Amino acid sequence: MTSRVSDMTDAGEIGRDMHQLVAELYPICRSITGNGLRETLRRVQKHIPLTLHEVPSGTPVFDWTVPKEWNINDAWVKNGQGERVIDFQQSNLHVVGYSVPVRRRVSASELRTHLHTLPEHPAWIPWRTSYYHETWGFCLAQDRLAALTDDEYEVCIDSTLEPGHLTYGEYLLPGETTDEVLLSCHTCHPSLANDNLSGVALAVALAEHLATQPRRYSYRFLFIPGTIGSITWLSRNEPATSRIRHGLVLACVGDAGPVTYKRSRRGDAEIDRAVACVLRHSGRPFEILDFSPYGYDERQFCSPGIDLPVGCFMRTPHGRFPEYHTSADSPELVRPEALAHSFATAAEILSTLEHNRTFVNLNPKCEPQLGRRGIYRTMGGTDAAVSELAMLWVLNLSDGRHSLLDIAERSGCSFEAIKRAADVLRDHDLLALATGSQS
Ligand code: ZN
Repeated sequence: MTSRVSDMTDAGEIGRDMHQLVAELYPICRSITGNGLRETLRRVQKHIPLTLHEVPSGTPVFDWTVPKEWNINDAWVKNGQGERVIDFQQSNLHVVGYSVPVRRRVSASELRTHLHTLPEHPAWIPWRTSYYHETWGFCLAQDRLAALTDDEYEVCIDSTLEPGHLTYGEYLLPGETTDEVLLSCHTCHPSLANDNLSGVALAVALAEHLATQPRRYSYRFLFIPGTIGSITWLSRNEPATSRIRHGLVLACVGDAGPVTYKRSRRGDAEIDRAVACVLRHSGRPFEILDFSPYGYDERQFCSPGIDLPVGCFMRTPHGRFPEYHTSADSPELVRPEALAHSFATAAEILSTLEHNRTFVNLNPKCEPQLGRRGIYRTMGGTDAAVSELAMLWVLNLSDGRHSLLDIAERSGCSFEAIKRAADVLRDHDLLALATGSQS
């Protein structure tokens, strides 16, 4: 059994499927609560059996409170001729997220205090929100601002901000053990593709893939609004967090940049080492960042009172690509081949966790005679020498105290080479699972 996903799957097809999901979800106006978020989760339910949870507004969640639910039907600014000069129907980014309802005539000068543009990218619409301060506003391209020459405008935001619910989606894919791997993505951004939907597409693809694989671990998938969603989930599931052995937040995984991994707060957790090992042997550029208390939901999963081994798997990090939080973060920014590569890399990381076991050498007094057992022949191929070296490392370090990942790190061999060597040695009764090694 190989653990290299790229060998088993049609990467092109996976990338296209993932991109199709990004494009399908892109037009929906999501927020941290509301019907756009629900609709998104219902569409994910067509792929995986997600459970939707509804948490009432006003529910205390640690130091926070579940906010009122926001929904929007339409919004516009009309000029003196009754023309929509800013129109929510053309882009949901035109409205500041969580804008309170408004319908009245305003002077041009008052309107300007409610407008947001991005002068450094005059053709792009910025994305703004005001979740915790009740106000209203519009976002538009700087280019369009110059055309607003009337003295008075009519503004309409047909929204509701009322007691309701915060919705999140959860899917537990059981494995042989109740030890869990947490995979989390945020689902709260409106029409933004890389920062949001690429993570959703990767989580869906991984869930579909893992469902077809033998699994030692159980996998818990969270589709949650950023920050308030993870805080809400953690406050409702604190006892369950003791089962989480490893975790990844998935975000910004569809752009052309190299894979970037941000370590967990612990810094040397097994997930941190597994990711580093896979990336080191990937043959592609990558970057590993230390933990910092800024970013996505790893901030909450790695808060000191929670302290889970959860890192963040990305390509170009938030804020480091100019299209971030603007209308230019569209499905065109997200590349099927980048999505496919993110999928293959994440799947290989999870496979590394699955197969990272600790063994004992059953013939520890001097080297066993490999030739007599026909092991050299089974290795075969042009990588025979590498594989022999991997076997010698596995035999030497399998004293019940070193895991296969320890051996991969110390030998400089890929985890896959070490795992394959261990498989052969087990087949020849030279290696057995160490007692106390998780079964
Ligand atoms: Zn964002």
